Amino acid sequence: MRSRLVDLVLPPRCGGCRRVGSWLCGDCRSHIRRLEEPLCRRCGAEVESARSDCGCRSRLRSLTRLRSAAAYEGPLEAALQRFKYYGWRRLAGPLALLMAERMVVEGVAAPWAVAVPLHSSRLRQRGFNQSELLVREIRRLLSLSTPPGMLVRTRATPPQVGHDRRWRLDNVRDAFEWRGAALGGRSMLLIDDVATTGATLEACAAALRAGGSGSVMGVSVARVNV
Ligand SMILES: [Zn+2]
Ligand SMILES: [Zn+2]
Repeated sequence: MRSRLVDLVLPPRCGGCRRVGSWLCGDCRSHIRRLEEPLCRRCGAEVESARSDCGCRSRLRSLTRLRSAAAYEGPLEAALQRFKYYGWRRLAGPLALLMAERMVVEGVAAPWAVAVPLHSSRLRQRGFNQSELLVREIRRLLSLSTPPGMLVRTRATPPQVGHDRRWRLDNVRDAFEWRGAALGGRSMLLIDDVATTGATLEACAAALRAGGSGSVMGVSVARVNV
């Protein structure tokens, strides 16, 4: 893993193809696949025909909407892996920009944005929370103020990868808590790097609602097709 210092002195290198010059080169940018309409109006999954929801309503109760900038494949998948597992923190800028562009297109907005938190044990292991880096960039890009508290993960949960929807929902249920001032019915943006079934976002949204929020809109850089 590259240290912070190395990250500062090395010239920018593309997270998609490692080419020197920028953190996400034009060639890789052009190969990022944006999700194609029709999308489920609720969870943003690519669906066969336009409907109000794809059947996700019964499991995504607290999450009002979910939108992702692009599909988790190709250069974007490579960039997200380098960002998350190899510590290429500077990718937060270009990745957040992809999200912000999507939010403008979709008309997704809220006064506050929070990140999906890591449990403290995972945070110590990785050294940073990738979603927290993204949310800082989102706040800067959209000129949002800092929310009056924080979303915390109250227990460590096994990784969601490789399990079905039901297992994922149960795994993260009640694993989050809003600590701070009551949110007064205001809507919230909930930021994560990758979304799959939306189970983690749903558990976070439930915690925000318990904290008094209004609608909760999940936004991720990438979407895994399930
Ligand atoms: Zn590239
Ligand atoms: Zn859906």
